[in-house]
Amino acid sequence: MKILVPVKRVIDYNVKVRVKSDHSGIDLANVKMSLNPFDEIAIEEAVRLKEAGIASEIVVVSIGPEKAQEQLRTAMAIGADRGILIQTDAPLDIGGVEPLAVAKILKAVIGQESPNLVIMGKQSIDDDSNQTGQMLASLLDWPQATFASKIEMQGQYASITREIDGGLEVIKIGLPGIITTDLRLNEPRYASLPNIMKAKKKPLDIIKIEDVGIDVTPRLKVTSVSEPPTRKGGGKVSSVDELIDKLKNEAKVI
Ligand code: AMP
Repeated sequence: MKILVPVKRVIDYNVKVRVKSDHSGIDLANVKMSLNPFDEIAIEEAVRLKEAGIASEIVVVSIGPEKAQEQLRTAMAIGADRGILIQTDAPLDIGGVEPLAVAKILKAVIGQESPNLVIMGKQSIDDDSNQTGQMLASLLDWPQATFASKIEMQGQYASITREIDGGLEVIKIGLPGIITTDLRLNEPRYASLPNIMKAKKKPLDIIKIEDVGIDVTPRLKVTSVSEPPTRKGGGKVSSVDELIDKLKNEAKVI
């Protein structure tokens, strides 16, 4: 079984995001960038399937700037076999390559690579779109299982457990199919130094986005980006009566 894992270069989750002074987007200058955490979970799951003898090859693909090679190398250090970078100078977040365009490019890559399974993140932590997996499944007319918290392969099928309101849902999809990962699917391993060194020698193909022949013009126009309002300090109340009074007369919520 061949598994394709799309991975995105995103602003690191520990970084405090700064909005550009002209409110046109996020300031990415000198900011630490990382693998999208949900994509790391997707790679880990693919690697576990390979270790279990179920998968034979893992290909990672990223649509992003030249520097997204770093994230592809990290993915290969975790255990992916090779990488493909679809290189673009478009910004990674606002006004960049939107989920529909990413899905169309991934469809083209899938046409070349013919994987049996695609495992990808449920969401990028920069644009929080939660769209690409669903759009890709639709474009390919493949079954999809989103927000997976457990994956069990059963021959030509995959059984996926999803955390839903009030319980767990188990669904079965035929392959080829798309699975998107939720946070509790697994805990990704740290790449060891020898594996980081080995990853440097793994094959990485770079294709210019123009050569893929897909229109990636943004369809959305972001009018303004701003920081959330700063929180006002809280206060202490001395009794339940005072709390109720404040909720009624000051906050006017009851
Ligand atoms: P999104 O729909 O943007 O929230 O992203 C969902 C998932 O789609 C991510 O977790 C990635 O697996 C994949 N994805 C989104 N953008 C890219 C990209 N530029 N390159 C590769 N994969 C991507």
